Amino acid sequence: MALIVQKFGGTSVGDADRIRAVADHVARTRRAGNDVVVVVSAMGKSTDNLLRLANDVSTVMPPRELDMLLTTGERISMSLLCMALADLGVAAASFTGSQAGIITDTDHTKAKILEIRPDRLRKAIDDGFVPVVAGFQGMSTDHEITTLGRGGSDVTAVALAAGLKADVCEIYTDVTGVFTADPRVVPEAHRIPRVSFDEMSEMAATGGRVLMLRSVEFARNHGVPLHVRSSFTWEPGTWIVEEDETMEQAIVSAVTHDTSEAKVTVSGVPDRPGVAARLFRALAEEGVNVDMIVQNTSEDGSTDISFTVPQGDLATSEATVENLKEALGFAGVTSDPSIGRVSIVGAGMKTHPGVTATMFETLASNDINIEMISTSPILISCIINQDHVEPAVQLLHAAFELSK
Ligand code: ADP
Ligand code: ASP
Ligand code: MG
Repeated sequence: MALIVQKFGGTSVGDADRIRAVADHVARTRRAGNDVVVVVSAMGKSTDNLLRLANDVSTVMPPRELDMLLTTGERISMSLLCMALADLGVAAASFTGSQAGIITDTDHTKAKILEIRPDRLRKAIDDGFVPVVAGFQGMSTDHEITTLGRGGSDVTAVALAAGLKADVCEIYTDVTGVFTADPRVVPEAHRIPRVSFDEMSEMAATGGRVLMLRSVEFARNHGVPLHVRSSFTWEPGTWIVEEDETMEQAIVSAVTHDTSEAKVTVSGVPDRPGVAARLFRALAEEGVNVDMIVQNTSEDGSTDISFTVPQGDLATSEATVENLKEALGFAGVTSDPSIGRVSIVGAGMKTHPGVTATMFETLASNDINIEMISTSPILISCIINQDHVEPAVQLLHAAFELSK
């Protein structure tokens, strides 16, 4: 008998029919002799709708109250699913993140899990219940309700699987697995049966939102087998595994994209030690997550520094940098919210020269200008104009023959 954690995303529990279909699948898994712990997201777009409501009543949106509001979405799903399970004769009980023993830090709206205290869930399982846990939330060390950041139910599922030493964590979603590109952008994209943690981390970090980045890191650190699959067709999906010699290393495995960032450029920065350190320390202290950074070669003792940040952090970033203008003696700050990132990921890149050239040639021959570049051993990312992102993904997917 296995212990299986099954996580169902927003579309998978989007309406009453979908909730009944999920209940049916959980009941079957149970009848097959497994113990099951379920993690649910909020129904459909309800987290977005709650955020919009908050925006309509407040410009301040105190983070504690925002978390209190957003956690209600998952509570609706968990109780409805337990009711649907009751109709099928399956004993189930719902648990909020706090009741499930998910202890986080105090960073509202993007809290990190510090500890799992799974005793209550363990007892429910031993008593023959299917615990249904509200994803995306926990309780802080200050006993406040917190959320884990957008897409955070994936982290809840993996953390519970680790805490309960589950045999597998199944992430059920609206696609049949991890694809060679977002199937909404590239209809010819196909499912990858097995992908390494390394590649999946790079994909998640560069916009492949099918798994939240932190869930991939957590799964790897705790040795949790992850299986991404469809709650519409229920067919086997993609396994995220440690790389081994039996895996064929594709040169390029996937193309990802992200349009959620903005670019900030600080011009005329004096080229002396300590300036960049002060700049990025100040941004870190404001909680800004800086991603890509490019510094030009200096001319006449000054240089330009460009970096990308989440669009939501743009106003804070500009204000923080502006505040340092006198102290650091740079010329000015500009920003561009309409950038996008397109990336190629592949473990085989490590040993194959020429991949970068092919990527740049593909963009160049379609008149797509590259504004920034960053690389890792298995990733090449380019910042381009947002309007060019979708065509760039399609062109790169074709250039690296990923439809085959
Ligand atoms: P859930 O609500 O189930 O968590 P998400 O919307 O967070 O679902 O993630 C699933 C979506 O991720 C898919 O509908 C798809 O459009 C998108 N996606 C982006 N990149 C990929 C990829 N490489 N493979 C599969 N899906 C992807
Ligand atoms: N409901 C939350 C969100 O939309 C968490 C999740 O779905 O994973 O971000
Ligand atoms: Mg998700």
